[in-house]
Order: sequence, then C-alpha cells, then structure tokens
Amino acid sequence: MRIWVNGELRPADDARVSVLDHGLTVGDGVFETLRVSQGRPFALTRHLDRLTRSARGLGLPDPDLDEVRRACAAVVEANPVGLGRLRITYTGGISPLGSDRGNEGPGLVVALGEVSRRPDTTAVVTVPWTRNERSALTGLKTTSYAENVVALARAHEQGASEALFANTADRLCEGTGSNVFVVLDGQLHTPPVASGCLAGITRALTVEWTGAQETDLPFDVLDRADEVFLTSTLRDVQAVHRVDGRELPGAPGPVTAKAMRIFEERAADDLDP
Ligand code: PLP
Repeated sequence: MRIWVNGELRPADDARVSVLDHGLTVGDGVFETLRVSQGRPFALTRHLDRLTRSARGLGLPDPDLDEVRRACAAVVEANPVGLGRLRITYTGGISPLGSDRGNEGPGLVVALGEVSRRPDTTAVVTVPWTRNERSALTGLKTTSYAENVVALARAHEQGASEALFANTADRLCEGTGSNVFVVLDGQLHTPPVASGCLAGITRALTVEWTGAQETDLPFDVLDRADEVFLTSTLRDVQAVHRVDGRELPGAPGPVTAKAMRIFEERAADDLDP
C-alpha cells in the first residue's frame, strides 16, 4: 500500500509523520473518510467542504483543496481496490513540546484501505455517555475520536456494531461513526444537527432523497420506534435488527428497505466525478 504524506507517495512502512505533530500529541487535526468503489471516490466535493469546515472550526488554515484532490487521485491510482475506505487526515503540524501549534505548517496524509461490503442489518447498543451539543468541537470531524473508540468497544462487547449516544438533554443524537434514523407511525425521522450530531453526508443525502423529517426526539424513542437504521459513508443505509435487548423482527422494515433502495439507486449516479 502507498500512502500520501506531505507532498509525496510513500510505501506504507516508510510513511511517517513527526512525533511532534500536534495531531498526534493533542488530537489537533481533522479528517474525512470516503467510500471508493471501482476507483471513484463518492461525494468528494461534499467531503472536502466538510474538511474545510472542520479545519476552520479548529482554527487550522484552510486545506489546499487542489492538493488534497491531487493526493486522493494519486492514492486511488496507486492502490487499486474494489471497495475501499479513503482516509484524509489534516493535522495541526509540527510544534515543539510546550508551544502552540504548527510552526511548520499543517500536515496532510491520505491513505486507502480495502473494505468488505457491510451486512444489510446490524445490532446497536445505547451507551450512558453523552454527546455535548454545546462543545467547541460539536459538528467538527476531528481526530479526537477516543470517546468513540470507548463507546464502540462497549458495543463490540455486546455483539453489536455501533453504539448510540444521547445528548446532554437526553435527546437522540448519533452513533460513534454514523447517524441514526427512526420510523414512527410510518414517518421517517432523524435528529437535527442541533442535537450535536455530525452533519453526515449520507444523512444529508438520505434526508434529501427520502423526505425524512429532522425531529428533536427523546432518547427512549429507541424503545418504541417501529424501525431504526444507520447511515454513514461505509454503511450507506443499514437496517438495525436489535437495539440493546429489543429485537426488531423483520428488519429491514418497509420504510428502511425503501430508503436503502433509493440510496443505492441514487448513489450509483455519479455524484462527483
Ligand atoms: N457521526 C459521526 C460521529 C461520524 O464520525 C460519522 C462518519 O464518520 C457520521 C456520523 C456519518 O457521516 P458520513 O455519512 O458523512 O460518513
């Protein structure tokens, strides 16, 4: 595998960033994960817009998007995969310990790994920890993901693939790496961005294409929703068949199955050549 590191492609075992990079020492960095199928990144422009928004939110200089596009193209070309996860990491850059960030400028790493197609349905758990809808980092896709790592480990311990968070007001928010949709009385809902969730790109497309409503929902809606599904770059639309101990028999239910179909059809049109 060949990885783009600060201006050049390197073999994976020779691709290095400084131990003094602020992204490593304090998590001062932002990232994007894109799906690549048959050599084409999906929704690249939307991901680059969010990378820029996240960087601005952290006070990093705007990434040079021409360079990021060049890096993505080079990595995709150098690593042929059927289905892949393209990871763009943009960090605060090198700064001596004890000083503020990045006096040598930000760092850019782009890597691609092969992934397998996710199953159509999955189990999720709820976790007792909250997303803070008023944090300085709310809505930014930063490399400070350790909270998600802890929650996801809890999900894996319980045989689930995702953990769902409430926000501090006990409203439904999102998963560690996905957005959540629920069906109530045949109507599709997802929490608004004001809940503290990431403005997921798959979420936005699903709302646009299905007419789902953005609704402030109590966390315990998960105890009574008729259907639940997750959206993310690597899951697309994925039905949930169990929430904690509650089975959702017949998943994907009719509304979810329709959303899965619409997403698959519309996403196949090349959104972003
Ligand atoms: N929420 C969080 C915290 C995420 O990290 C992600 C994706 O990584 C999502 C939601 C889903 O966003 P997207 O559909 O853009 O992948």
